[in-house]
Amino acid sequence: NEITPKPHVAFLASPGLGHITPLFELAIRLVTQHNFQVSFLVITTGATPAQNEYVNANKHPDLHIVDLPTADMSGLVSDDMTAVARLCVIVQESIRPLKSILSGLEGPKLKAVVIDIFCTGVFEACNDLSIPVYSFFTASAALFVFSLYLPTMDKEVEGEFVDLPEPVQVPGCHPIQIQDLLDQVRDRKIDEYKWYLFHVSRLHMTTGIFVNAWDDLEPVSLKAVKHEQFFMQIPTPPVYPIGPLTKQIEPVVTGHEEEIMAWLDKQPKDSVLFVALGSGGTLTSEQQTELAWGLELSHQRFIFVVRKPSDSALAAFFHAGSDSDDPKAYLPEGFVDRTNGVGLVVSSWAPQVAVLNHPSTGAFMSHCGWNSTLESLKHGVPMIGWPMYAEQRMNATILSKEVGVAVKMPVVGDDGETVIVRREEIERIVRAVMEGEEGKKIRSRAKELEASGQATLSHGGSSYETLTQVVESWKLSS
Ligand code: UDP
Repeated sequence: NEITPKPHVAFLASPGLGHITPLFELAIRLVTQHNFQVSFLVITTGATPAQNEYVNANKHPDLHIVDLPTADMSGLVSDDMTAVARLCVIVQESIRPLKSILSGLEGPKLKAVVIDIFCTGVFEACNDLSIPVYSFFTASAALFVFSLYLPTMDKEVEGEFVDLPEPVQVPGCHPIQIQDLLDQVRDRKIDEYKWYLFHVSRLHMTTGIFVNAWDDLEPVSLKAVKHEQFFMQIPTPPVYPIGPLTKQIEPVVTGHEEEIMAWLDKQPKDSVLFVALGSGGTLTSEQQTELAWGLELSHQRFIFVVRKPSDSALAAFFHAGSDSDDPKAYLPEGFVDRTNGVGLVVSSWAPQVAVLNHPSTGAFMSHCGWNSTLESLKHGVPMIGWPMYAEQRMNATILSKEVGVAVKMPVVGDDGETVIVRREEIERIVRAVMEGEEGKKIRSRAKELEASGQATLSHGGSSYETLTQVVESWKLSS
């Protein structure tokens, strides 16, 4: 009686919780719902405490963690590099031994390798081994379609995109305001642009592309690509919307988790504003002070995740979940005492999904990273969008204008540069969302999307059935 081995798929994610989480959640679904075995390759260079705790919290006998050897980065990265350029170099160096690692994995021959957008360097090794590569685009469908269009734009547009006189019109999609263009394309001369273009230009080499979205959330962008074999004359692999896949298990990262949840237990329903700006987000000292004053003046309950201020919006990216100093040092004098009981200041990291899932949480002031966005919607929590870096300005606009679940903070000036939002404005917007009519409207829309997100992931739902279709094709492949 021979036991047939379970079908085997490998995953590779670039560093950063925002990339690892959705790929990991897909891997967990494959082992728990579809009876697969998964080898999850982890890039250890640049790994953060938050990422390590998340991976450790999700152990499963059929999910094998394979740590890639630490890469020698001496002379290759420096502190003045942008986060994406640094991340891309780390991936490039870490996957040098990929071919021998993939061929040495325990288990039957791989049905597929699933990567995120910054891991397209795997193609050569996978081609040599005849393993199909699937990409999981972990940001919005809107950014996905823009990214498919970018190589065409790169050929057709002279000069900088930020100097274009009109919004960018990706065929079939909502126009993208110039000031909302993602950081990676705002200066075509920098390495970050070259890396982004390199990876998105290789998207068509994949066998299929998963997107962490579903029709009710992004109908227009998904329609533009879902059934297209060519997008802008470029052959496009099948696109599979399988979202919202979000973190299910909240790891213990700082040890303050229980305290935070116990505080929330004592607050009234929907009364608390959760303020957290992503895994890497940092405000300038001036802006953090204004935000603290705005929260205090609003007289609303809040949980405020505070980090050491920085002039770079992404200063914490490679340190996510690290211990921070006493947050009081970075807040207005007396703030913590004056807001005691109404607000809770948390140093550097909070158990975000657990907080969003708590009935006392009424709104989320978020940088609108895509995972944070999906986590908020999955728990029916409306948002105040405070975009910080990457494509978050686009996300904040989509969420406020198209989806109707957020109010956007005016953090961008007419010239596209970041501006300081003053305390009175913050106070006004926080009150409007926590107590006003606007808040009621976006909360009820968030609840609709919560239900729709649940339905699409259930048997018979579109995201569930889409993933099942791919899984079945993997099972049948030789
Ligand atoms: N996160 C968290 N606690 C924090 C800040 C962030 O658990 O205090 C998690 C959050 O739940 C999400 C991820 O970090 O899963 C952030 O991903 P996202 O795509 O929103 O933003 P990025 O970090 O990529 O900018």
